Amino acid sequence: LALYAAKAEGRCNARIYTTQMHEVATARHRLETDLREALSRHEFTLRYQPQLDIATNQVSAVEALLRWEHPERGEVSPLQFIGVCEELGLIDEIGRFVLDSATREASAWPAEVKVAVNLSAVQFRSGRLVSVVQAALARSGLDPARLELEVTESLMLEDVAAVRAQLLELKALGCHISLDDFGTGYSSLSYIRQFPFDRIKIDQSFVREIESNKDSLAIIRAVSGLCGSLAIKSTAEGVETPEQFRILEQENCDSVQGYLISHPVHAHQVRSMVDSFRRRSGRAASPRAA
Ligand code: C2E
Ligand code: MG
Ligand code: MG
Ligand code: MG
Repeated sequence: LALYAAKAEGRCNARIYTTQMHEVATARHRLETDLREALSRHEFTLRYQPQLDIATNQVSAVEALLRWEHPERGEVSPLQFIGVCEELGLIDEIGRFVLDSATREASAWPAEVKVAVNLSAVQFRSGRLVSVVQAALARSGLDPARLELEVTESLMLEDVAAVRAQLLELKALGCHISLDDFGTGYSSLSYIRQFPFDRIKIDQSFVREIESNKDSLAIIRAVSGLCGSLAIKSTAEGVETPEQFRILEQENCDSVQGYLISHPVHAHQVRSMVDSFRRRSGRAASPRAA
């Protein structure tokens, strides 16, 4: 994987190019073979990271984050394999696994906790996404209003009319739609008007610089203000320090997600995590989990 990345970054030296290219091709081939078998071997699993509602200091939702527990590589981040799955045509199958697992696991949690599922733009191409979501909801019995679907700005590179129609159908089922990683892609105010977003998630790159870069703070302030005016909820991603939390609270962000609140946890830990925030309600607001 490292070699594959090095090649992508163009770091290969011409003299050893051929050898490295061969190794890269072999590594890539192995990755593909492993990925094709990972589903049937039950190597995929989900972790869940809470979103804390600032006004209530309660967990309003948890985001499902895919993990590949590879027998030799260990835990592999989705950043390392989602793109390859899209190229190999495996993303629909993996996407179905994620929707089925997340809705099933969420149906056992307190009803006020929503579950957020990340969708790849590629999943909008087959025309079957709405029925896949519907089937997952039917099998799990989860209230559609408890399902948030996270899409990214890369969706705007797809057939926009077809995407919009599917998002409206998903909304008609009762699901919520969030725009993830906002500000890193093809952000356009016209998309925010054309698409039925319930939530905008401000990318962690802005949050990381909130204290050091006044432009990042200005952008967060503007997005939060825009969300307020349009009755769209705002979530700040990647919140790691109490100072970042304090500023986001002051800027009227609706909710926060990040290591300060909690790292992603196993499904069986979600209930106790939600409870630990419930127990502290009424006491001095503190975003830190027990
Ligand atoms: P994302 O949807 O923006 O998810 C947030 C990512 O930021 C997660 O990385 C999470 O672990 C990480 N994160 C959370 N809090 C903090 C923090 O305080 N600091 C820092 N530095 N990072 C934090 P993860 O789990 O590696 O996922 C990466 C990306 O992979 C996700 O970004 C999402 O775009 C994609 N992804 C994850 N699961 C799925 C899935 O089931 N399907 C699809 N299509 N994509 C997925
Ligand atoms: Mg996400
Ligand atoms: Mg994000
Ligand atoms: Mg991200």
